[in-house]
Amino acid sequence: MIAAKGYAVQNINEKLAPWNFERRELGNHDVQVQILYCGVCHSDLHTITNHWGNAVFPLVPGHEIVGKIIAVGSHIQKFKIGDAVAIGTAVDSCRTCEECKSGHEQFCEVQPVATYNGVGKDGQPTYGGYSDTIVVNEDFTFHISEKLDLPAVAPLLCAGITTWSPLRKWKVGQGHKIAVVGLGGLGHLGVKFAVALGAEVTVISTSPDKEFAARELGAHNFIVSKDDAQMKSAYKTFDFVLDTVPQDHDINPYLTILRTDGTYINVGLPPKPWEVSSFSLVVGNKTITGSGVGGLKEVQEMLDFCSEKNIVSDIELIDIKDINEAFLRMEKGDVRYRFVIDMKTL
Ligand code: NAP
Ligand code: ZN
Ligand code: ZN
Repeated sequence: MIAAKGYAVQNINEKLAPWNFERRELGNHDVQVQILYCGVCHSDLHTITNHWGNAVFPLVPGHEIVGKIIAVGSHIQKFKIGDAVAIGTAVDSCRTCEECKSGHEQFCEVQPVATYNGVGKDGQPTYGGYSDTIVVNEDFTFHISEKLDLPAVAPLLCAGITTWSPLRKWKVGQGHKIAVVGLGGLGHLGVKFAVALGAEVTVISTSPDKEFAARELGAHNFIVSKDDAQMKSAYKTFDFVLDTVPQDHDINPYLTILRTDGTYINVGLPPKPWEVSSFSLVVGNKTITGSGVGGLKEVQEMLDFCSEKNIVSDIELIDIKDINEAFLRMEKGDVRYRFVIDMKTL
């Protein structure tokens, strides 16, 4: 086994603290990565607080990973020692079910392996990127461009792909008006991508003080969601709404700002079900849809697009000892726009 150290939560309601554990030895198709940076996703917070009711402890979060290859299995051809690579929300799948064959490995029906809080093909729990090293199957490891700022690449692996995938699926681009709800980790990358794809972008935020920053990201308009007059003036304006909100909220006001035939794309994961009136969908032929991260091919496409357009996340680099404080700040929306842990502080 390979000795690893990281930060783990040992039990519900406990804080993250240093923890030593083991990674599996490399198989023929595995690479070992020295983790340099790991993004702090709101899903990490949902998971460690057992917001979704599925946490298994000890729990090492982290699925926005950037690092360097330090060892390769005997059959590896795609990577060599020293390559800069990234790992996202999944580390394995069956590759043979309908989902895997259609490029939706994240929904594998047979053996999906989440980067953390999952179970690996060896039957052991998976531990995430708040750690110094990880062993991953080569198919779930991505090349990244070293011309990009490496710590700011990390959030692309979850926040990036989660907003990129539905924008591409729905062909959002020139001639479309899109509202991005929630200017956090996902939201700010959604804004950057939608702008780069040519759409007219409006940020809808609970935080009036984010307007200037939203416009700096390229947003064309800004609406404060708590301001009824501003929301009313946006009635029937948008072709798409991209909802990234992590907390329970009423989505009905956002349905009223969709045009006829408009599409409401949800990516946020608050635990409580919504209440939506049938009339709010029937009148105006509206669609509500969801989107879950992205498949392997889409992730590489997104990373290539980011390399070409020079898109990375806006980040605040933190020491790992400050991770518990970072979660408190994230809960208050006090981060522009993603914390990334500098793993050399471990
Ligand atoms: P985040 O960085 O904390 O940002 C969320 C933003 O939502 C906040 O900055 C805030 O923006 C807004 N917000 C927070 N509470 C709100 C409330 N009560 N009402 C309205 N707006 C609120 O979170 P994130 O990392 O972007 O993650 C967002 C959600 O996406 C989480 O639920 C996460 O688990 C989920 N997620 C889903 C997928 C997927 O596959 N679908 C993948 C990754 C993450 P303003 O200040 O602008 O209002
Ligand atoms: Zn995530
Ligand atoms: Zn599968």
